[in-house]
Parts: sequence; structure tokens; C-alpha cells
Amino acid sequence: MKEQMYLLEQFDDIKILRYDVPAFEGLSLREKLFVYYLSQAALAGRDILWDQNNKYNLRVRAALESILRAYQGNRETEEFQAFLVYAKKVFFANGVHHHYSMEKFTPSFTPEYFKSLLREVGAEQLYEEVERVIFDPEYMAKRVVLDEGKDLVQASANHYYEGVTQEEVEKFYGEKKKENALLSWGLNSTLVRDENEQLKEQVWFAGGKYGKEILRIVEYLKKAAEYACNAHQKEVIELLIRYYETGDLSLFDRYSIEWVKEVAAPIDFINGFIEVYGDPLAYKASWESVVQIMDEEACERTRKLADNAMWFERNAPIDERFKKSEVVGITARVVQAAMLGGDCHPATPIGINLPNAEWIRERYGSKSVTLDNITYAYDRASLNSGVLDEFAYSDEEKELVRTYGYVGGNVHTDLHECLGHGSGKMLPGVGQESLKNYYSTIEEARADLFALYYVMDPKLVELGVIPSLEVAKSEYCNYIRNGLMVQLTRVKLGNNLEESHMRNRQLIASWVYEKGKADNVIERVSRDGKTYFTIRDYEALRKLFGRLLAEVQRVKSEGDFEGARNLIENYGVRIDPVLHQEVLERYQKLNVAPYAGFVNPKYRLVEEEGKVMDVKIEYPTDFLTQMLEYGDNK
Ligand code: ZN
Repeated sequence: MKEQMYLLEQFDDIKILRYDVPAFEGLSLREKLFVYYLSQAALAGRDILWDQNNKYNLRVRAALESILRAYQGNRETEEFQAFLVYAKKVFFANGVHHHYSMEKFTPSFTPEYFKSLLREVGAEQLYEEVERVIFDPEYMAKRVVLDEGKDLVQASANHYYEGVTQEEVEKFYGEKKKENALLSWGLNSTLVRDENEQLKEQVWFAGGKYGKEILRIVEYLKKAAEYACNAHQKEVIELLIRYYETGDLSLFDRYSIEWVKEVAAPIDFINGFIEVYGDPLAYKASWESVVQIMDEEACERTRKLADNAMWFERNAPIDERFKKSEVVGITARVVQAAMLGGDCHPATPIGINLPNAEWIRERYGSKSVTLDNITYAYDRASLNSGVLDEFAYSDEEKELVRTYGYVGGNVHTDLHECLGHGSGKMLPGVGQESLKNYYSTIEEARADLFALYYVMDPKLVELGVIPSLEVAKSEYCNYIRNGLMVQLTRVKLGNNLEESHMRNRQLIASWVYEKGKADNVIERVSRDGKTYFTIRDYEALRKLFGRLLAEVQRVKSEGDFEGARNLIENYGVRIDPVLHQEVLERYQKLNVAPYAGFVNPKYRLVEEEGKVMDVKIEYPTDFLTQMLEYGDNK
């Protein structure tokens, strides 16, 4: 597949990409059928999410769809194009509010024009219902409101509550918690006021609210269960079905426990009311689904690292007193997404760690996955965004990154997650609270430095984790370029760095730049009025990463608050305003959309004389067509 094929289109601040599922081709027919039915189940709950996001969303969508399907007039006019962009933004966000900022979209066409389009397609009756929510900017302005001092329930435009106040909600669930502290109260219901002014939950289950959609999910899960990878997984699906059929939250907990214990199957899934970010009070969960196929090759990589965890610990360039005598490897799995649904589509996370119930995590652990076909698509699309061409110093560097950057990024993540965070120890009596607000930046810096130090180690080539040290060089180039320049594009001119990952990256990059200045390890070059940072000595840079790792580990192990503050305040917070402005100007010219989401693949049964012979995967390339197909699929 050609690189440019990953980016399908761009509108407003959104990029639409596609992703490949190469692992699907290697599955048996039985496994393919399992993926097929899980995927149908992943798409069947879409309308639930739309309604959860705002009570008018499904009506707005019906209006948009009827125009897109039937409008016979001129579609090339400026006004129709403005309508089209609005429609795509609503489809992308699963509703009228931006998926990230939560703010309502402002249409750049008039109410009269919209009304004329509806009249044209014979759907004028929809106009009155949706007029206010589309055109009145003050009405339901933000989906999730988190400002202190407001009634968050009444101020938020989501549809998890009707006619109740924040105080009432907190009291209602506070009482429930007294009955049973472990249950995730409120997770699967809308809280409303009934005809007698009493608070009442409308539970989301087969016989209740969203029953129609849930029955379809259940129908597909029943078919999927016939093809489960093993008996345990079949039991897991059956528990999920019983939960959907009853709405009983204790069944959801039992399902979650069995789901987390089942680790043998090469195909896994998430399906349900899972994340609570859409509710400012974090009781109500949005519906989502992901179908995943294990990436055996990539899991092999993380296994090799985990198996050798003790070697890495012993050889780390840190004080012996801070080393662990025993290391427990973390089993993070690498998967390919086969289908994204509900709150995971079109925008999707790249890593997921579940279940969310803290007591289940403590007793039974959690499953964590990285969706590596999704990160691959992001990587390919970004290579052609122009950002690399703009900020990389030489053709050599660009070539290096184009060839090895993706592998380098993945290995960095593996080292950071599987080994970095788990390595080292604190001295007796020292806790993370001693570093206070600097703890997370120090901890992220430590894991990043562990990865940067080891990615250049010949041991990785010996283990077969990377083909050559060129991979490490490309990762060094990316890290320095990002830490000193590219990441500044996400910060407004005049602001400092606030976010801990961004602070940690600048801390590392600017520390090694400064300490290596005398030996010209990294050179700052100005060419045609543009600034570049180029690495002149990779081995010396690796030594500097090792030196800083030793210092950051010492700070953590001893709980040295002053040391943490000095490192972070001197290297990780302030931004040179002149360089910042230059970076922002260069970036703006590239016209890169900051948010991205995906068109899903499509699975089709191949039948002969009523018998399923195969399941074919297809890769549609048009976002709007897929959105209209999903709207049809009832
Ligand atoms: Zn981390």
C-alpha cells in the first residue's frame, strides 16, 4: 500500500485516515467468522452513543442524512460545501459537539438555507426540532462542563441526566455507595425525575432504554460466541450477554473479572458501557467497542524484553543502591484493531487499559493493549504531512526517519512501558509524595531515558528486537527534534509548558543539548532564517542520556524535591519566545489538521450454496459513504 493512501481527506481541524488489518489474512475461517460477528456487534451500538452525547443528536443526524442522500440541487455551491463540512464534523464527533474541545459546532450557512435544503428533500418537518440546537450558540453550548462553581449536570449538554441537579445526583449515588461500595453505580442508566418528582434510573438493557440497539448487539454476540477462541472466552461472552439482557451491574463485574483473566485467545474485544469521560461526575459510561487481533510478531518483541528484564536492570547506568534485585515484567499486548465502534470511532485511542473498576484491577489485574496498526497509519500519514520535511535538518535525517522511525518509535514505547516504569527502586521510607507536583514529570523522564539509553544498546540487535542501530539513530533524531521544536506547536505563544509528558521531553532534549555543547554533540544550525538541531555524535549523546538517567533515578530514589524542581524548572518549563514564534509560523504554513480519525474496514461473508466459504476484508476509502452506510444499517 502506498504511503499517501493512509490519509484519505482533511476538513476543518480533522484528518481522516484508514488502517490495515494484515493479521486478518492469517486467521482460520472460524477465527474470521468470530471477527466478523464481533465487528457487527461493534457497529450495532452506534446510535446509543449519539443519544448519550446529546438528546437531539439523532434528530440532527436524520436531517443531515436525508439531505445528503436525496438533495438533487447544485452541490458545488459555497453554501452546500459549508453544509457538507458541518455534516462531516457532526459525523466525526458523533454529535453536534467537538469530540475533543466539547464545544458546539457553529454552522457557516444560514438557517434559511438549511430549511430550503430540507424542503427540497421533503423533510421540512425536521427543521423545528433541530433549529435551536444547531443555530443558537448559547443553547447546549458545551457537552461536558467541568468549571468549578457551576452545576455541572445542568450546564453539560450530554444526555445522561434529565431535569436533575448535581447535588441530587451526588446524593442519589452517595446513598447507593453506602449499600455496596464496590458496584459501579449509575454506569448504565439515565437518571431522570419521574411523574411523582422522584429520581429514577432508566436502565440501559435489552428490556429498557436503548433496548432496540442492545438486542441487536446481543444477537451478534450470540453468533460470535459460537466461534469463540476457547471455552473460557465463550463463558466471557455469555456473561456479557446476560448483563445486557438484565442490566445487572454485578454481572458486569463478573464479566470484567472473567474477561481480564482470559489471556489465551488470539482475538479479543471490548464491548459495553466503559469510559466515563462524557459525564462530568464520572458515573455514566459511553458505549464503545473495539475488536482486536493479537500481533504475534510484535508481542514477541515485548516478550523478549520482558524475559531479559533482569539483564537491563543489572546493566542500567544508575547507582547500585537504586537497582531492583527482582523485576516483575509487565505483560502489555500488541494488537491490530479489526473494528472500531461507538466512542472509539472515528477518533480512537491508541492504547487501552481495562477494566476501570479499581477493586478488580487490584485483585485480578488489568489487560493493556496497544493498537499498532493504528499507530502505523498515524505514522505513515504524518510522514507526508510536511512536518518532517520542514523541521529535519538534512536529507540523510529524513531518509533515516522514513526507513526506521516507525520501528524506533515502537521500540521506544515498549522499553518505556514494559521496562522503564518498572525499573529502579526508592530508598526505604521514600514515597512518590516527596516529589509532589514534580513526580509525574520525573517518572516520565526516567522511563523515557531508560528507553533512549537502551534503544542504542547492541543487546537489542543481539536479541533481534531491532535489525540495526540505525533504528536508534532515527529515534534520537525524532526525540531531539520533537523535544526542542515540534512539540511547541501545541502550545500558545507566551505560555509555558504545563503537561508532564511535554515537560519531560523538553527537559531531556534541552539538558543533553546544553551538556553536550562543548563537544558539539548536538548542533544548532540556522539556515535561510530557519533553526534546526542536528545530532553530530550519537555515541556521545547516548552517554549523556545515561548520565541524566542516573541523576533522575537518584532524584526519584532519594525523593530529592529540590533536585526535581531544579531540573524541571531550569529545563522543562520555559520556552524561548523567539524560537517558539518561528516554530509556530513554520507549522502554520503546513496546514496540518491536529485531530485524526479513521474509516473502518468492511467484512463480507462469501457464501456458496448457502454455506459460508470465506470472510473477505475490504478497505473503503470514503468517509461520508461509510457514515451513510452506518446510518442505514438498522
Ligand atoms: Zn510513561
